Formats: sequence, structure tokens, C-alpha cells
Amino acid sequence: MYKVNEIFETIQGEASFTGTPSIFLRLQGCPVGCAWCDTKQTWETKDTFIVSLDNTVEKKADSEWWANASAEEILAIFEARGYQAKHVVITGGEPCMFDLVPLCNLLHAKGFSTQIETSGTFEILAPKETWVTVSPKINMRGGYKVLPSAMARADEIKHPVAMQKHIEELEALFAETGVQPKLVYLQPISQKAKATKLAIDNCKAKNWRLSVQVHKYLGIN
Ligand code: SF4
Repeated sequence: MYKVNEIFETIQGEASFTGTPSIFLRLQGCPVGCAWCDTKQTWETKDTFIVSLDNTVEKKADSEWWANASAEEILAIFEARGYQAKHVVITGGEPCMFDLVPLCNLLHAKGFSTQIETSGTFEILAPKETWVTVSPKINMRGGYKVLPSAMARADEIKHPVAMQKHIEELEALFAETGVQPKLVYLQPISQKAKATKLAIDNCKAKNWRLSVQVHKYLGIN
């Protein structure tokens, strides 16, 4: 069973799949403890917040409500809602707290592509066809280490940046894990001009890419 915080259809606004119509499946639970986390409502898995799966679909506001659901029940919601997107983004929370193999396999069999967005601090259990985005959360309060296996599995690295220190931490992680990813996106935190310039300057200097959270400029989820 998966703990589901939210299901909604939108446009992927980040990294390689920017512009792709996508169904977002947000799973509940995360112990990583990033100070600037914008989905803190997903951290806890208290039973008092359990609702039916229907109540997690197209939520009007962020909430700690979550539902237990099987892969089949999640697929049934996609079909019942008539979603047209064929790309599913599994995010969180920290989705890799779950074994995502059964869910991804079922979705692939039904013609969906899948993508995971993870902090890299848990083993990634997903089929090889699944696109893995690791947004490495380095030295966060929860005390979890970014795993070399997660870095090696990543199809792309997406790194939020606000100051030069964040770039240095990322390069130190590459050295520590022995993984030099081919596809690295820098993503300015909170659309601030200073962070955006920092990201652009470093992308040009290192031949990395810029991810600007297009959905935030569009004012959509
Ligand atoms: S890993 Fe993601 S969900 Fe967890 S605290 Fe950090 S930003 Fe938030």
C-alpha cells in the first residue's frame, strides 16, 4: 500500500520533462527535514489524518490528509478522473520510502511513463524504465546521507540553489560518491533574482542546465 497525500494533473515545470502534461502523485512521509521544504504537510503519517483516496484528488489547498491505496486503486483514480496525461510524476514527501516497483510496472503496462523525484537518501526501488530525478538533500536536519547508489541511478540531478555554498556542496557530493552525472540542473530557490543569476552563471561555467520552475511563473500547481 502507498500513502497518498495528493493526486493532480498539471504540466511538469522542472528539469528535462518541463512542459509535459503530467499526473502528479504525491506520497506521504518524509524524515529528511529540509528547512526550506515547501511540502511540509507531507512529513507526518499520523493516523488521525487518514481520509479516503477520493479526498486526496485535486485538493484545493495543501493539507496533511492522506490515504492508503494500492497501485490498482491509484490507477483506477487516474482512469475515473479521465486524465489525459500519460506521464506520472511520483513525488513527496520522500517517495523512495516505498517500493515503487509494483506501481511503476502497473503504470508502464497501461501505457504511462513514470518519473520519480527523490532526495536520494533512500534506496530507489523502481524499474529501469522509470526516469529518476535526484534532488540531493545534503546535510539536512534529519541526518540522512545521500546514497551513492541513488546518485548512480539518477537520470538527472536537480539542485535548488540560493548561494555559492550550495554549488560547492553539490560538487563535494559528486567527489564523495564518485558519481559525475551527465545531466545537472540548477534550480534557483524562490525565483529570487540573486539565486537566478547565480544559477545562470554556474550553468554557463560548467555546462549545466537551468530549471526555473515554470509552473510557478505560470501560477499553476
Ligand atoms: S526531502 Fe523533499 S519533502 Fe522531504 S523535507 Fe526535503 S524538500 Fe521536503
